[in-house]
Amino acid sequence: MKLVIAQMKHETNTFSPVPTPLARFARGKSTPLEGAEIREAFRNTGSAIGAFIDLAERAGAEIVLPVAGNAAPSGPVETGAYEWMAGRILDAVRRGCDAVLVDLHGAMVTERHDDGEGELLARLRRLAPQLPVGVALDMHTNLFPAMCDNATVLAGYQTYPHVDMYETGLRAGKPILDLLAGKVRPVMACGHRPMLPHVMRQSSLDAPNLQIQRRAQEMEKEGALAATFFVGFPHADIPWAGASAVVVTDGDAAKGRAWCDELLDMAWHEREKFVYHIEPLETSLARARQAAGGPVVLLDHYDNCASGGTMDTMTVLGAILDAGLENVAAFAICDPQAVRQIKEAGAGARVTLDLGGKSDMPSLGLKGRPRQVSGAVRRIIDGAYRNEGPMARGEQMDMGPSAVLDTGKVEIAVITRHTEPYDIGAFRALGIDPARKKYLMLKSRVHWRAGLGPLAKAVIECAGTGVCTSDYSQLDFRRVRRPIYPLDPL
Ligand SMILES: [Zn+2]
Repeated sequence: MKLVIAQMKHETNTFSPVPTPLARFARGKSTPLEGAEIREAFRNTGSAIGAFIDLAERAGAEIVLPVAGNAAPSGPVETGAYEWMAGRILDAVRRGCDAVLVDLHGAMVTERHDDGEGELLARLRRLAPQLPVGVALDMHTNLFPAMCDNATVLAGYQTYPHVDMYETGLRAGKPILDLLAGKVRPVMACGHRPMLPHVMRQSSLDAPNLQIQRRAQEMEKEGALAATFFVGFPHADIPWAGASAVVVTDGDAAKGRAWCDELLDMAWHEREKFVYHIEPLETSLARARQAAGGPVVLLDHYDNCASGGTMDTMTVLGAILDAGLENVAAFAICDPQAVRQIKEAGAGARVTLDLGGKSDMPSLGLKGRPRQVSGAVRRIIDGAYRNEGPMARGEQMDMGPSAVLDTGKVEIAVITRHTEPYDIGAFRALGIDPARKKYLMLKSRVHWRAGLGPLAKAVIECAGTGVCTSDYSQLDFRRVRRPIYPLDPL
């Protein structure tokens, strides 16, 4: 048995000005991983591709690994990057195999295609019409019909923060191996509801997604091969953004359809609970001043780099500096130019520089606005660290050359590559102990809860500035299908 196993992951924020060239998929190298280095990178990690490799090894399969690329969320994927990765996967299949297992995101938009995943799967289907194709997807998949039409099994994460990537790989891969062994005959039921659940209300730790994901897990205990409710990714102005579901059964199309509709009906019934209500920033800072104990998380959710934010807007950090809050750690401002200035000054030096605000945001009609900050250079590092988990456990990370700028009240992490603060390893690499801080400013929305949630005594959501704005009225939706809730009253 010969299996082609690959990864090509990107969540595209069509409002983001951050470019997405091939190098963004390459974790600090010029091109994404290929061949044996993929096995090396993902062995014993909590990733879907790691699960695919484990499944294939256990089955004694010959494994072909044409590409593994995973880029931090940003604007549409450049055509050259997409064709480089898709071409390698197609070439590997063209040489012959018994099945394909791919670790995709599900919300990839390219310069040419609204549905990067559906396009890849359609090309695979044209090349090898009978080939079993198993796909692991993120919960933020925007499900296009082409994905359902051209895959054999789709399975998505059932947790947000995403701490079940490995398990999702097993749920997507095992039915394919069982199909090859003649044990099952997977059939899929897919569906949508016209709603854009708000990211700030999507966590599977809270209602209503907690109950929906639990029900999907129950369906798998009741016999579904894989049951998934996708919350969707709303910062993508494409026709099929929003909520969807897929249920895979062993040959029981009617049962699959009933289960799929049940998950979708649960979400639709609770649609008002998926709406986020915004608090003015001044009110949030006033509450922060009064907060007892710590650490108190101050969440800069409009500029979340794991949703395509520029990670350099200064509105929330500026408000924290103006408010005079003390014993704060801020993660992070992504500003390569500032890192260069800090490195030139050297550890221990005092510097004054224009921090952040280097990126304009044309989709919001905003220019980048740096803020002058003075402080001592506490630490300069190369930025490599390994995730401690539970999210993407064991994966090698690289925030690029990075430094800590200490204003006396606020320790500001300044980094070179977009990195969401969901793992304590990012803080340890910078010599910051988040447990000892009164306040943690995080550019995140939900994923921080994976590694830092247990530390937090309180969380205060701070409405700042950015292309992950939690205020949908700031976004000019033109292409998403209408009507859709809550943009339209349904
Ligand atoms: Zn996601």
